[in-house]
Amino acid sequence: MKLSKDEFINKLKEELLRIDLVISEEQLIQLYEYKELLVSWNDKINLTAITDDEEIIKKHIVDSAYALNHINSESKVIDVGTGAGIPGMILAICNKTIKVTLLDALQKRTIFLQEVVNTLKLENVDVVHGRAEEIARKEEFRDKYDVVISRAVARLNVLMELTAPFAKIKGSCMYMKAGKTEEEISEVNKSMKELEVRYKKTYEYCIELNNEESLAHTIIEFTKQNKTKEKYPRQFAKIKKNPL
Ligand code: SAM
Repeated sequence: MKLSKDEFINKLKEELLRIDLVISEEQLIQLYEYKELLVSWNDKINLTAITDDEEIIKKHIVDSAYALNHINSESKVIDVGTGAGIPGMILAICNKTIKVTLLDALQKRTIFLQEVVNTLKLENVDVVHGRAEEIARKEEFRDKYDVVISRAVARLNVLMELTAPFAKIKGSCMYMKAGKTEEEISEVNKSMKELEVRYKKTYEYCIELNNEESLAHTIIEFTKQNKTKEKYPRQFAKIKKNPL
């Protein structure tokens, strides 16, 4: 259902309060403007399958904002495979002290993201077009981030090799997943060893929907122990064919 601007903002405020997040009127308006751009650009380029206002609030905005509970202020964050800016754009709007890099392989999506940054005059967001396995080899991105975050990009044993190289030593790798994750976690023993990351914690939370159903979502957090070995990440075809 399409909500008016006031209805959208009131609903958003109410849903963010459920996760104990209070943001300013200006930030609420920026989230509304981001949603408006997302829905209008979605007619031309494929950005999201979710277009209903209430669903965008719950499944995109609140889901993303939940991660702020586990990100320190002033952190340098990279969102790998951000797509339409989820979760990174939402994190950056909700917490202006963090500095967020949004990375995606599809240029039409990064053009959209840059348009959002320009329209909303966001000073804490950089947009980068490229493939994670190539960008992670550049000095300015490698071993540099306090937090690497990623939602809905790949299975954990592939995702970890693509993303861990961005984290600094003692930095966090956070993976947002839906549903059961035990099996995926059980597959990453070798990845953890090779990439020198240690499992830290799994955070579970529920997205409450209108029909009294709820979605079980999870953030799995790892801590990077050491600089990533030169040989990682490998080329994508190799990672995919033969995950660590
Ligand atoms: N994170 C967003 C979300 O949760 O809505 C987008 C998820 S979408 C299913 C996956 C995104 O990852 C796509 O936009 C795709 O272009 C990007 N992607 C996939 N592999 C990538 C890679 N190796 N490097 C950079 N981006 C990648």
